[in-house]
Amino acid sequence: MHENQISPSEWEVMRVIWTTHPITSKEIDDILKEKKEWKLATTKTLIGRLVKKGMLSTEKQGRKYQYSPVVSERESVDGAIDDLLDQMCTTKVGQTIESILEKSTLSISDLERLEAMIQEKKVDAPEKIKCRCTPGQCSCVH
Ligand SMILES: [Zn+2]
Repeated sequence: MHENQISPSEWEVMRVIWTTHPITSKEIDDILKEKKEWKLATTKTLIGRLVKKGMLSTEKQGRKYQYSPVVSERESVDGAIDDLLDQMCTTKVGQTIESILEKSTLSISDLERLEAMIQEKKVDAPEKIKCRCTPGQCSCVH
């Protein structure tokens, strides 16, 4: 698991910064005001944590601080997916992807890409997935 995992509130802030940067804490707060009942102080606290986690770079522009992302949205989402997959038994990944699919609204082109990927994966898919868990952490037979 990553030490610098991002909390749901921190994700909200990051999404603003990924969309617009460099950006000040006041500008971030103005955008999130529509959606969240946070005070500017809370936005500043979240920004402070993200700077500490190495997610944001800071630049002083006159009297104001401006923030920019250090990692891209794509990299961060991929990291969060890796963390999730690392937390489960390899034999349960299929079921998990199935529930994600079930809960998602997908476009025709999304589904076509998925279909193509499934066909490709089928070519060299194993008959059964091997569990790599620590004995006692899952009910697979060792
Ligand atoms: Zn297992």
